[in-house]
Amino acid sequence: MRKALTLDNFMDGLKRRNPREPEFHQAVYEVAKSLVPFIRKHPEYRHAQILERMTQPDRVISFRVCWHDDKANIRTNQGFRIQFNNAIGPYKGGLRFHRDLNLSVLKFLGFEQTFKNSLTTLPLGAAKGGADFNPKGKSDNEVMRFCQAYMTELARYLGPHVDVPAGDGGVGSREIAYLFGQYKRLTHQFDGALTGKPIPLGGSLVRSEATGYGCAYFMMQVLEHRQQTIEGKTCVLSGAGNVALFCAEKLIESGARVVSLSDTSGFVHAADGLTREQLREIKEHKLQRREPLAKLGKQLKLKFHKGKQPWGLDCELAFPCASQNEIGVEEAKQLVKSGCQALAEGANMPVTPDAYEVFADAGVVFVPGKAANAGGVAVSGLEMSQNRVGMHWTAAEVDQHLRDIMAKIHEQCLEHSPGRSKSVDYVRGANIAGFIKVADAMLAYGVV
Ligand code: GLU
Repeated sequence: MRKALTLDNFMDGLKRRNPREPEFHQAVYEVAKSLVPFIRKHPEYRHAQILERMTQPDRVISFRVCWHDDKANIRTNQGFRIQFNNAIGPYKGGLRFHRDLNLSVLKFLGFEQTFKNSLTTLPLGAAKGGADFNPKGKSDNEVMRFCQAYMTELARYLGPHVDVPAGDGGVGSREIAYLFGQYKRLTHQFDGALTGKPIPLGGSLVRSEATGYGCAYFMMQVLEHRQQTIEGKTCVLSGAGNVALFCAEKLIESGARVVSLSDTSGFVHAADGLTREQLREIKEHKLQRREPLAKLGKQLKLKFHKGKQPWGLDCELAFPCASQNEIGVEEAKQLVKSGCQALAEGANMPVTPDAYEVFADAGVVFVPGKAANAGGVAVSGLEMSQNRVGMHWTAAEVDQHLRDIMAKIHEQCLEHSPGRSKSVDYVRGANIAGFIKVADAMLAYGVV
């Protein structure tokens, strides 16, 4: 006799099958909270064990990566690719290089990707991968040798209709170019098996900007639904990578005031809002020179708060764009106190479940990453389309597609939120909308 489907029963089983993976448990819990009641009302999903199957990756690939550093020492890292679900398209999702990367983090990211990619409305399955390689302080040649060694093993699992990685934390267009170069050498193919490529290698315009721009576009949709506009709104942002910098760029361009950016060294505070000129310098400093914000704060005549996070600053809108679990209960309380009315997750899962409750109790509008940061993978999907037909679209064309996709994601969230009224439940809306498309595809395949 099968146990009744309750959140507790489901989570107990998941934890038993996947012990010592707290990030994965957290990501599944956040989704299962919306889905368990929904599935109870739709026995066809229950009968076909869709949620159980969706929380089990199709395959986990783990391999050794050996390379030489600049002093000719042999170095060894662990490489991964988790092919999570290909019910609606080829496996798709980023690669992350981070010293502390492990299976729990990758399974959480791959699971989230299933819903995010489904929401984009494009035919994209879900995957995630990377290595416990620490890019900090590595020379260009070391990064190149590492990427080549990593791809030597990974290439056999990739292909434009099989699995298409892109960048994520620690993996930008430089790394993607090295990875693609090695893929091409091994397979003798010039195809779209990676996205986020530099333009001459077949990349798409607006791909680097896409996650950040998309996050700002989504917030504009949220405000429009509440009969407000972004103009003049005070925005607090964390992070200073692609997501935060381009989110800031779009917000400033749209008339909002961006008062902070941060990295592991601390945060810069621009009380009157960053100017375009200041942002340009920060971008150059972070993206080209790859140096900590601490080195720049003074030069720009901005206040720099060493080792701190910006959540105590007065704001109306918040965009955590740095890393998972950066906002706990204390930070959430600070944000509520500072006047925050809406928050969009630029990073994946930057808000802990307890912190989410603080926002829910205070009536702060909360947009989960799978909706707010889907712009990056959406433009990756557009890069795949351009590669297939051998064409380059203009920046304006790609940007228009991106805006349309973010609007469609917003519409799907409304459709599946309990009330289409002012207080939209974006978490539930995104979870259910993302689920239905993948679940229906899985039902159609039968038992596979
Ligand atoms: N890493 C990004 C994400 O989390 C982009 C993935 C992709 O473009 O495949 O969605």
